[in-house]
Order: sequence, then C-alpha cells, then structure tokens
Amino acid sequence: MAGPMDASDEILALRAEIAEHNRRYFELDDPSVSDAEYDALVRRLRELEAANPDLITPDSPTQRVGGAVSSLFAPVVHQVPMMSLDNAFSFEELEAWGQRLGRRVAEVASLACELKIDGLAMSVRYENGRFAQAATRGDGRVGEDVTENVRTIAAVPEQLVGDMPAVVEVRGEVYMPMASFEALNRRQAEAGGRLFANPRNSAAGSLRQKDARITASRDLSMFAYQLGAVEGGPGFRTHTESLEAIAAWGLPVNPEIRTLGTLAEVYDYCRHWLEHRHDLGYEIDGVVVKVDDLALRDELGATAKAPRWAIAFKFPPEEKTTKLLDIMVSIGRTGRATPFARLEPVFVGGSTVGVATLHNQDQVRAKDVRPGDMVVVRKAGDVIPEVVGPVLPRDNPRRKPWVFPTTCPVCSGPLVRLEGESDTACVNVDCPAQRAGRIEHFCSRGAMDIEGFGEQRAHLFTSSGLVEDIGDIYTLTEEKLLGLEGFGAISVRNLLDAIEASKTKPLPNLLIGLNIRRVGPAAADVLARTFGHLDRIMDASSAAIAEAEGIGPLIAEAVHAFFESPRNRAVIEKLRAAGVNFQGPETDDDSPKPLAGMSIVVTGTLEGWSREGAEEAIKALGGKSPGSVSKKTTALVVGAEPGASKLTKATDLGVPVLDEAGFARLLETGELPS
Ligand code: NAD
Repeated sequence: MAGPMDASDEILALRAEIAEHNRRYFELDDPSVSDAEYDALVRRLRELEAANPDLITPDSPTQRVGGAVSSLFAPVVHQVPMMSLDNAFSFEELEAWGQRLGRRVAEVASLACELKIDGLAMSVRYENGRFAQAATRGDGRVGEDVTENVRTIAAVPEQLVGDMPAVVEVRGEVYMPMASFEALNRRQAEAGGRLFANPRNSAAGSLRQKDARITASRDLSMFAYQLGAVEGGPGFRTHTESLEAIAAWGLPVNPEIRTLGTLAEVYDYCRHWLEHRHDLGYEIDGVVVKVDDLALRDELGATAKAPRWAIAFKFPPEEKTTKLLDIMVSIGRTGRATPFARLEPVFVGGSTVGVATLHNQDQVRAKDVRPGDMVVVRKAGDVIPEVVGPVLPRDNPRRKPWVFPTTCPVCSGPLVRLEGESDTACVNVDCPAQRAGRIEHFCSRGAMDIEGFGEQRAHLFTSSGLVEDIGDIYTLTEEKLLGLEGFGAISVRNLLDAIEASKTKPLPNLLIGLNIRRVGPAAADVLARTFGHLDRIMDASSAAIAEAEGIGPLIAEAVHAFFESPRNRAVIEKLRAAGVNFQGPETDDDSPKPLAGMSIVVTGTLEGWSREGAEEAIKALGGKSPGSVSKKTTALVVGAEPGASKLTKATDLGVPVLDEAGFARLLETGELPS
C-alpha cells in the first residue's frame, strides 16, 4: 500500500503540476485553473522548499520566470533580464517586505505605487527614437520577437519625441481594455468561436499571433512602467523621474501612479484600488510597490526570479474553481430563459457563490460546460457571478454536452429562439413564472415600490390564485390575506398600506411597472412628460409616440403594441377602477430650459449636491444626465474621487471637464465656462 507522500515526492509532483500550468498559461494563453489556485500550489511548493532547502533545484518554478519561448517566433535575448515579482497577499506580508528592505539598506524615503495591470509584459526597444523591436518576457532571459504585432498597437509610438538615449528599452504591460474584451467575446460567441477566459488571456492570445493582422484587429493597448537596457543619456536618479521621461517621449504611462513616503500611505493606496478596481476600464490584479531611488535598487539587487526592490500586493481572487452540479433554466418576467449553473458553494469575490449565470444558449455552447465539470467561477464587483469555463478534465470521462431545453421548465410551453437574437424565451404569457415576475417587477422599488411584495410573495399570491395580474393587487383585502401562511395582523396592515400608498405614485413609475418591452426609466420619463396622461399614451399612434424626444421607432412600436392588446387594456381598467394615478406632470411647463440639448455627466462626490440632486437639477433645466461619457457629452462634472474611466474617456474625446464651481455656474447661466 502506498504510504503518505514524503516532502520530496510532493515537491516533485507540485513542480510537474506547476510546470504544466505554466505551459498552458504562458505558452498557450489558455490556463485551466484560476490564478488563485495556481498561486496556492506555488505557495505550497515554496513552503516545502523552505523547510527542505537542500531539495531546491535551479529548475524549480520557484526559481524561474515564466514559460518557454515558442518556436513560432524568433528568439530575442534580453540585454537586461525581464524578471517576475514577489507577491504579498496581505498587509502583514507587505510589512515584512518593508522590514527586509530596512535590514538591507539605509532608509527608503519613497515608494512608487502602481496598478498591477493584468496583461502580459513587453519590452519595446527604440533606437535613436525609432521603434526597433518588441519582445515578450519568455523565460526572462530569452523572449519572443513580436515586433510586427506590437507595431499594430496604436498606443505604442513609431517615433519617440524629445531628448532620449540612443538606445532605450521601455518595459510595460500590454493589455486589452474591458470593453474591447467584452466585444471580442461577443463576436467570438456569435461566430461559434472559442471564448477567452479573461482580458489577460485574450491580450496574450491576441498578441502572440503569427499573423499580425489578427493582433491589429484586437484593440490592444499598453502602459509603460519601467526602463530596460539604456545606452546613452540622460541618466535618472529615481524611478519617478524615469517614468516622467517615458511619458514625455510619448509613451503611455498609467495616470494612477503615486510616489508615497510611508507604508501606511501605501496601504491606503492599496485599499483605495481594492475598492475601486472596477471603476477602471481595464483589469488590475493588484498593486506593485517599488523602491523609487535607483541607487538603492542597485544595492538591493535581485533573487534568481525577482527584484528585491519591488513587491506585488495581490488582490483577493475574483475567480475560483468549483464543481458544476447542474445547469438549469430560469424564466424571467419577459419570458426570457436564462441558463444558470448550480455550483458547489465557493467563496469568491467577497461572498459565497452557489449559483452563477451562463447568460444564454450560445454562451453555454461556446464554453462547453457540462454538469459534473470543474469550472472557473468569476465574481467581479457588483456584477452577477458567472461561469467562465470548464477546467479541462484530466482523465475522468465527461458527461454529454448539455442541451438547451425546448420546453419551459415552469409551464411546459415551447421555448422559442427569437429571430436574430441570442435569447430564447417562453412565449406563453400565462406562464406562472412570467406572471409572478411581472407582479414582482410592478411592486419593485423602481416601479410602484410596494414593500413586502418580493419574489416569494409574488409566487405565493399567484399560486394561490389571489393575484393573476397586477390589477388584482388592488383587490387584496384583510379577509383574503389573513388566512395565508406567514401573514399576521400587522404584516397584513403594512402590506395594504403600501398598496394604498402606491396609488399616488408618479406616472413614470406606473409606466415602468407595466412591463412594456424596451421601456425603462428614461423612456417612461419622456412618455409621461410628453403625453401628460396614461390615456393619451394609450391612444397615441406609434408615429406620434416616435416623435417624443429620445424615443426610437422600436420603443414606439413596443408601446403601441402593448396598449393595443385587449388583455393589457383590461388590466389597465382594473388599475383605473382602483384609483391608481394616471396623470403625468404638467406638460405646459414654460419654465426656462437653459440646458436644453445639453448632456452633462456627473462623476465623483460633489459637496453641494447628492448625485441624484445634481442629475435632477440638470434635468429640471432641460438637460440630460446620462451615466456614461460619449461623443455626445457636453461636459463632465468631476467631484471628489471621480470614476477614472469617465475622466479618461472625457479627456480622450476632448469633452470639457468642470469642477463643482464650474457646475454651479453652468446651472446659473446655462453656459460652459470658457
Ligand atoms: P506576476 O504576474 O505576479 O508579476 C510580474 C508581472 O507583473 C510582470 O512581469 C509584469 O508583466 C506585470 N506587471 C503589471 N503591472 C506592472 C507594473 N506596474 N510594474 C511591474 N510589473 C507589472 O508574476 P508572473 O511571474 O508574471 O506570473 C505569475 C502569475 O501568473 C501567478 O501569480 C498567477 O497569477 C499567474 N499564472 C497563472 C497560471 C494559471 O494556470 N492560472 C499559470 C501561471 C501563472
């Protein structure tokens, strides 16, 4: 019988496993486990090696950088090696790094803090200011020649400007912006192609292409963060100075880099970006802290794998591996059938996840996940958790591919895939799931705001036959409710009061609650303001509706079709009989509208206005206040801690940026400060 593994066996097994992950990640750009799992393996290996130093060999993954160099590309020997970074997974580990620095050198007066961009490392060589060569990191000593691929990246200039060394290698991270990554995966899914697991893999996969035209089509970008080999002056004293020079030569340097004096400030920087990582238009997986003084760096030197003068503070993982128990389909209020995964619960992205979305039929097919598979689950920020893809099975046979059902799991009616859409839907309007969904939506906060009418109660009322449609909500009485499970005198009273109070809700809330296709808060607002009364909207032709500002023909057609249905009209009559408000705001409002035609976006915290208050002030003066910056934006108002992506976009598009004082003036005068 085999005994327990001894350290040496475990070390060998771990090395083999890590080597295989390195190959998949660095050479094939197609990892099969999450970074967190990979990091745990490396950590375990490090521990074992620390306890058995005589077992450390130079070929251990703890002593080597990256992966092998692919024969697809010509090799490039790095004049200055491209190293990895040591990791800290907690502030204690960061503190320990600070103490190690303190033991090796005199005082470290300043630390450069940078975002750890999740892409792939690149060395770009300029000779007499001209782009000459680009190489991947490879194994740190020899990289891959990807000159033609990097030439297609718009952010990497062909010609530097100003005073630069005769030869200079600029090192940085090539990455794919979030929006480009999402668009790429949408295109891949539509074409039935392979999906990329995350922006890092898609950046690496897009860059390491034999055909540079593919790279050119992938919208990659780069942030430079360091110098490699340099021949000729000017020389630099600090890292910060060198970054300033790199930026002055015309290369993109990340705008969030800060040079700080103490570790306490470094922690604040880390905390800030931990919280705001999703406000950026690109992915980061941590913060890199670097000694700023270049002479101290020389003194500190490096280990076999990483410099001693830098450390990567890694953020907690947003991806984990777990078992996919089953794939099911849920039916929403519009009938949309969404496949979702039931998972063995796993702690990821700050909470325990037991279900995760699979979006639609195409995505399940493209990802080819099957019940029983181990899968990577991702939960980033406030976004709904999703299944990224399967972890490839080692030896156990997989179950058959999962097949999207043809009938509704709730009402057994047919599921129909709509022409030209990726969604499949249950088309039976009487489907109990849709019915309960519509009722829940009508009562939700953004609509009629009837507290105590959540998902469970919507199901209870529909299944007990008390409420068939939203009109029936107003027929509920004490007698009908008191017998129901979970209802005491107080909860009955509260619910009836909430129902009564909803009768005076503004017209846009009612319009949202009616569940008209394509009508969300913005369209509901415009319809209420333009027509002033529900009856006038009901009787309008779709051409008349389409004339309202911001209402396109598709919305107009959906609104018209909704009110044409006798069934919907009957529900509306129930609401009228109950005394629900149909009256909109006064339409003959002739107050001045100095911001008419303007689109003002607000970001960050203002002192004098809440976010909603600022948006209302803009709308009251006839302007619009959408949530994102586009070509049509008139100005961006910036408060404290603004969203970086909005700010970058505004700067890129040349949209004027106002501070709070400028905003106050705009509201007063209707004019942009010159
Ligand atoms: P690393 O990614 O932890 O750190 C080094 C790299 O950080 C640099 O090479 C550079 O590319 C990048 N970087 C980003 N911003 C930077 C900045 N501002 N300054 C300096 N560098 C910056 O280390 P590594 O050796 O490249 O890779 C190891 C990591 O890769 C693992 O911790 C894991 O997350 C991932 N990995 C995953 C798998 C897998 O199977 N899932 C396999 C191998 C590696």
